[in-house]
Amino acid sequence: MKEKKKKKILLVEDEKILAKALQFNLEKEGFLVTLAEDGEAALTAVSRENFDLILLDLMLPKIDGYEVCRRIRQDSAVPIIMLTARSEDTDKISGLELGADDYLTKPFNTKELVARIRAVLRRALQGTGQTGDSQTLQRGDLWIDLISHQVKVKGQAVPLTTREYALLSFLASNPGRVYSRQQLLKELWGLTHEAEARTVDVHIRHLREKIEVNPAEPDLILTVWGTGYKFRETEETVDV
Ligand code: CA
Repeated sequence: MKEKKKKKILLVEDEKILAKALQFNLEKEGFLVTLAEDGEAALTAVSRENFDLILLDLMLPKIDGYEVCRRIRQDSAVPIIMLTARSEDTDKISGLELGADDYLTKPFNTKELVARIRAVLRRALQGTGQTGDSQTLQRGDLWIDLISHQVKVKGQAVPLTTREYALLSFLASNPGRVYSRQQLLKELWGLTHEAEARTVDVHIRHLREKIEVNPAEPDLILTVWGTGYKFRETEETVDV
């Protein structure tokens, strides 16, 4: 029987007492809460870990909430709810412009916050056409966000071209299954011309240079001689 996975929330809040109280209340509601007490800590946490949602206070030491939001949005579509003080009302608009999904004015009660969190999480899932909690793929050190198309290896963002991403996410979504070059061409780019088959090899080579520890001895995307390619089957298949 599969237990429903707890949603992971990053709470960025510099007021310690408020942060602890929120963490306690949200964990009582079934969320897993990680605390970050300034903007810098928030960005570090986001680069290392994959969260389902971020609660982001606006006024923060070191790097403020606006800047944190802007930087996260450069490579992630993770849902963000801004927490603002009553006097900062006009700032709501800028927060939403920077890509926050919602905002909440302090003081708020837990019930209201939880309702907003659930609504934003629901919207995020609907936006992808997915109903489960499989927005990301984790394969060993490789992490793929199927919504934002962000790829990380050991927590480091890896920039991929559109074709490389399509190839990687397709293979990684079907581990252990062997695909011929022709199948990949047709499946991914709608190409059927035999002569294009070599372009698959080129993309695979580039991908390996970006994601494999040792591209000469690939550990993730394997060559199946005489047939094509497959993504290594692993026990570490985790939907976060
Ligand atoms: Ca604050």
